[in-house]
Amino acid sequence: MAVCTGCSLLCDDIEVSIDGRRIAKTKNLCRKGFGRYRSLTSDRSVPRVDGKQVGIDEAISRAAEMLRDAKRPLLFGWSCSTLEAQRKGIELARKTRAIIDDTSSICQGEIVDMIIRGELPTCTLDDVRNYGDTLIFWGCDPSSSHPRHMSRFSYFPRGEKLQRGHEEDRTAFLIDIRTSPTAKILAGNFIQISPGGDADLIEAMLAVLDGKIPKVRDKKAMISMITTLKKADMGVIFPGLGLAYSLKGRMDRLKALVSRLNETTRYNVIPMVGHYNMRGFNQLLFDETGFINRVSFGDGVDHGPMYSVVEALKSCDLALVVGTDPISSLPAGIAKALARVPMITLDPHRTLTTELSRVVIPTALSGIEAGGSALRMDGVRIEFDPIMKSEYPSDEEVLSKILEEI
Ligand code: SF4
Repeated sequence: MAVCTGCSLLCDDIEVSIDGRRIAKTKNLCRKGFGRYRSLTSDRSVPRVDGKQVGIDEAISRAAEMLRDAKRPLLFGWSCSTLEAQRKGIELARKTRAIIDDTSSICQGEIVDMIIRGELPTCTLDDVRNYGDTLIFWGCDPSSSHPRHMSRFSYFPRGEKLQRGHEEDRTAFLIDIRTSPTAKILAGNFIQISPGGDADLIEAMLAVLDGKIPKVRDKKAMISMITTLKKADMGVIFPGLGLAYSLKGRMDRLKALVSRLNETTRYNVIPMVGHYNMRGFNQLLFDETGFINRVSFGDGVDHGPMYSVVEALKSCDLALVVGTDPISSLPAGIAKALARVPMITLDPHRTLTTELSRVVIPTALSGIEAGGSALRMDGVRIEFDPIMKSEYPSDEEVLSKILEEI
């Protein structure tokens, strides 16, 4: 069985047959995972230094030289790298006294942080399949972002204690600003809110839990939802990017709702982490420094908003990018600031970031050409072996060589 690294579900039931370097047949992959496997033969990157194609060793040596000379490097990305590569990245950050940050810094870091610190209760996806009878998808669209979430773990499957599945044993709500594919599946339990309306909805939910009349248009629907939520044997909230952005800096409201619900029943939270190993980086950095992201090794270990990718770009003189494509994914202003900094990028594919990088180091595609391990969105460790050889080294091997050369 192979593992798919197309999203943070890390599906480990993938069957693949290979014909040379071509994926001949696959079983159990969703359309997104299939795209990941198909990318094996499309848009692969080549080693480059200052726009010229070079041998991979030359690209690695040039990267080591640039990192050695940098005064304030930023090491950014990591969410699509294995735990082994991330560990090397943290070691490199220590050695070069760099700032290290990952994509959670601008998405779900706050929620992951609360979970890792034990401030929000959590459980595994296997617990959800077996016992999760009341679910809230909040500010997310699992049908599109994690296509097998509802079928493998959360809504559709039969579980140990939920033998009659979603038809009778499970209830799921979706809270979102738009009618997504998931909204169509959960049509009767779709609560549409206006952009930024999440905190108000939480206040309304808390009011009903306190026996008060909520300040919402559809009071009846709100009261009926809370009645169902209170009946849960095990409830799970899945916050997506929509909720994370809307509640930024006010995450105590989510905490308040969960602890209020937990006065009468049991609710857990599993954030809908996008990249396949963002959770892994957060856990690793936390274990080493006590912080999940935004760390500077400039003078011991320091942490704070000034070390987020957004702020660090104002003062760093070099960026090493691994396991992400920030020029495509960061807001335009930040991407522009990053493009002004000399960049070294490790990536299996050509991306907008590799196009703007001073040094490009192609790497093997993890899960397909490179093995390793990663933490699923619920923190469960998944190991994987390569299913074919690559002409290029893994992220971990490249980072090890850079470390040796510095
Ligand atoms: S749901 Fe995610 S991990 Fe599973 S097959 Fe699809 S992309 Fe891959």
